Amino acid sequence: MPNSVSQVPFVDLKAQYQTICDEVDQAILEVVRGAGFILGKQVGAFEEEFASFCGTRYAVGVDSGTSALELALRAFGIGPGDEVITAANTFIATALAISFTGATPVLVDQDPGTYNLDVSRLESALTHRTRAILPVHLYGQPADMDPIMEVAGRHGLVVIEDACQAHGARYKGRRAGSIGHAAAFSFYSSKNLGAYGDGGMVVSNDERIRDSVRMLRDFGQREKYRHELKGYNRRLDTLQAAVLRIKLKYLDEWNQSRREIADWYGKLLGPAGIAVPDRAGYAEHVYHLYVIRVADRNGLAAYLKQNGIATGIHYPIPIHLQPAYRDLGHQKGDFPITEDFADQIISLPMYAELPRESVEFVSHAILESGQVASETSPAVSKGLV
Ligand SMILES: *Cc1c(COP(=O)(O)O)cnc(C)c1O
Repeated sequence: MPNSVSQVPFVDLKAQYQTICDEVDQAILEVVRGAGFILGKQVGAFEEEFASFCGTRYAVGVDSGTSALELALRAFGIGPGDEVITAANTFIATALAISFTGATPVLVDQDPGTYNLDVSRLESALTHRTRAILPVHLYGQPADMDPIMEVAGRHGLVVIEDACQAHGARYKGRRAGSIGHAAAFSFYSSKNLGAYGDGGMVVSNDERIRDSVRMLRDFGQREKYRHELKGYNRRLDTLQAAVLRIKLKYLDEWNQSRREIADWYGKLLGPAGIAVPDRAGYAEHVYHLYVIRVADRNGLAAYLKQNGIATGIHYPIPIHLQPAYRDLGHQKGDFPITEDFADQIISLPMYAELPRESVEFVSHAILESGQVASETSPAVSKGLV
């Protein structure tokens, strides 16, 4: 290989820590010395700062993104007998959160350009049981929210954004998470804003939703030992809030670096005919993941691995073909674009500190591997025009 890079990890959390270690160490020490580990003052402070970052009135810290999705759905009273429409192409947690409430996930195939829920298929997924739409801002690019809000408004549905991959992204200038009736974020370590462990957040402009989620995350109590409902133990740790407060200050800068990295990849790979990500005109993408499509994905992954380059697949098996979701009664062919793409997608190394020479090294390795643009089925190519 023609340059000095020898190993490229998929993400490098240690590299990020190096840039903020003094501040983070200090913040952790303060929490440890103050011993307010559960709902300590850092939690409330971070909630305010995160709400303000998102442009929402309220934010409630919880223990994971999955909890944030589930508790948001529960706060709107969604449960058994209800249907929630979501994307066929997403991480399993989106569907699980719906299932945990007792409701049924109803999947919609993806748009071949943005990989997000295809809004033109929304209406055909509606039934008299539909209560909510849960769009996912996959890979860091917002779903097309205006038509989603329009359909929801017309049918009296709740919209909860799965913004677990889209901290700081924008849709027509507005932050991801500020457009629906509520949104869920994950602070899983490798997310664009990642804790040193698990964490999550529900944001909303609705005071009742804030109050419900606050109770649901803390044993159903508003006042200590008076339990208004059967709540959970799903709080955001004070230690994580302290770390996240520091990181939030750098998030826009880190997202900007991710966009630059995406530009470098795009300039090197796009002209060679590789299917690089589309940037929708309405979106400010934050590239949680940089996903390309190639004909022989497994071959490329093996070739890159031999060259010291780590990759990922997000996600190899669509929700409707997962053993856990046999009960939805789907079969192969039900969501053709999602299925087609699941065999072709590969996620390249992407994190804010990724050096330009690594991006070049990865890109040259891809071009040398002899990969060509993915073969898509005629139906899919039509959608791409
Ligand atoms: C990460 C993620 C979740 C779940 O978040 P956790 O914090 O891991 O529970 C949900 N949806 C999407 C799209 C995600 O990427």
